[in-house]
Amino acid sequence: MLNTWQVGEVHVTKIVESEGLWDPARLVPNATPENVREREWAVGPFVDADTGNLRVSIHTFGLEIGDEKILVDTCGGNDKVRPGSPNFHLQQSDFLERLASSGFPPEEVTAVVCTHLHVDHVGWNTILEGDEWRPTFPNARYLFGETEWKHWKVEPQIYGDVFGDSVQPVIEAGKAELIASDLQLNDLLWLEPTPGHTPGHHSVRISSDGDDAVITGDLIHSAVQFDHPEWASAPDVDPAQAATTRRSFIERYCDDHTLVLATHLGGPSCGHIHKQDVGWRLEPPK
Ligand SMILES: [Zn+2]
Repeated sequence: MLNTWQVGEVHVTKIVESEGLWDPARLVPNATPENVREREWAVGPFVDADTGNLRVSIHTFGLEIGDEKILVDTCGGNDKVRPGSPNFHLQQSDFLERLASSGFPPEEVTAVVCTHLHVDHVGWNTILEGDEWRPTFPNARYLFGETEWKHWKVEPQIYGDVFGDSVQPVIEAGKAELIASDLQLNDLLWLEPTPGHTPGHHSVRISSDGDDAVITGDLIHSAVQFDHPEWASAPDVDPAQAATTRRSFIERYCDDHTLVLATHLGGPSCGHIHKQDVGWRLEPPK
């Protein structure tokens, strides 16, 4: 399976923390194995043909531009106490080794961008040293959305102390910058506000030498939402706003050369959006 893409000067690598087949309703309450399998275009790459379960992936997109090494989202992390989220509870994985062998040793990472501050997007921001959480990437600046940070610092933490162990220690170490959701990171990268899943959620746009790509973050969780953008994701904080954002994203990138890099889609994790008689589909590159 292709795990790297070249977008002009930007080399993109998908580094997977975990991947599996999920009952569709866990992520999208309106989805069932039966109605998911009716989307023939999705069966195979994004949906398991035998079970109708979704191929779900937890991964980081690593971006290399010259000497810059930027991680977009940091998965669930190790040793995190997550009683409200069994998938991520006291996880032990060799993700850091895989990150290093993919070209991203922790000390070489120059920036970390979190599309939002949910449990599966901030985990590797920190690692446990003794009984202290310290930033995993000592030479990186961590970019957290200010709207997002203001929301989660007062919101009850239903999965575990995500904010306390994966966000706050970075701030206390002086490594964090609170940013606007439309920040231009450099000539080739910028953020696009895509609120709804969470209040300060943003996607990441890449544009270089006529090539374009967009990293979704969690504005979409399953391929079936491309032709049903009104179907909410279970963890959407504001389902109505998330649906509006999802639909406008789909319309913006429909029948366009921009490659959609999807943060939770397993299999190829990417494709181009095309209009169908009813709704849209995501077509992986050949
Ligand atoms: Zn997520």
